[in-house]
Amino acid sequence: MYPVSQRTEQVTLEYDFSRVEPEQNKRRSEIFEQMNESSNWFFIQKHGWHLPATLEPHEWCGTWSWRGCLNVNGHSGSECSNKVFVKTFQKSCYRADCQVCWKKWLARESNKSTKRIEKYEELSGKSVKHIVISVPKWEYGKDKKELAKWARKILKEVKADGGCMVFHPFRYNREEKFWYYSPHFHVLGFGWIEAVAQAYQKYGWIVKNLGTRDSTFATVYYQLSHAGIRKHNHVLTWFGDLSYSKLEIKNDDDLNQKCPYCFEKLIEVYSLGAYRDKPPSIDMELIAEPYEWTSDKLGDEYLYAKI
Ligand SMILES: [Zn+2]
Ligand SMILES: [Zn+2]
Repeated sequence: MYPVSQRTEQVTLEYDFSRVEPEQNKRRSEIFEQMNESSNWFFIQKHGWHLPATLEPHEWCGTWSWRGCLNVNGHSGSECSNKVFVKTFQKSCYRADCQVCWKKWLARESNKSTKRIEKYEELSGKSVKHIVISVPKWEYGKDKKELAKWARKILKEVKADGGCMVFHPFRYNREEKFWYYSPHFHVLGFGWIEAVAQAYQKYGWIVKNLGTRDSTFATVYYQLSHAGIRKHNHVLTWFGDLSYSKLEIKNDDDLNQKCPYCFEKLIEVYSLGAYRDKPPSIDMELIAEPYEWTSDKLGDEYLYAKI
């Protein structure tokens, strides 16, 4: 078996943190500090809402396994000729709630959303803006559905063409280091004039313009990291020109899950050779001998027979 070297550039990174400036990486780590230093990240609950990463993982979350392509016939003429292609991967449930997988959820959702926003920027020539719509205190008893209706009404009034909306039930008290109920919506969107958004105040609802200091990826990542999580709720929703029906995005998420030689979908595979006992806990790609790999899950009999 030989490690693959020349063709790594063909495989897209699952999470492209290289797009993020060092300054913004600092901001990204801020949330992990707030999670650990705060007294109530894991306990705060209101109307069924909670913060991400508060539930136990499945037993397989974060465990390493192999994916590969055993389609030897499709590999002729390449450096993988007469060989199979395999790579390690970490199993993930991609749930926002999962204590092990939530960062994968965060990265995946942020990447997807960034792509959508950047696509619209490219098509429209406009640049994305970030506002916060805060719920007045006397409306705190109302459910998000009701609050979101108001938020959408406001977006119409400030003339937003489209964007995405994330509901935050909680705010963080940096001095006292705790989270408290203070519902608001973050909107990354297009169309309004900053001054209009900033000036909006009607029925006690306040719209604040946050400017565009951070990259889109860093902003989405940060907003999702402490978003409200509740069953059957979509953490991030699109509206107007950026809704699914109006803006089509080619989904190349799967590129990472395809064979770089024959483009078949990678399947879970098992080693009959050197890696039989346990995959290494590291990202790794190999071009390997076909007889050393199988797609049949190995039963105990096999493992015991070999011992
Ligand atoms: Zn998980
Ligand atoms: Zn292949």
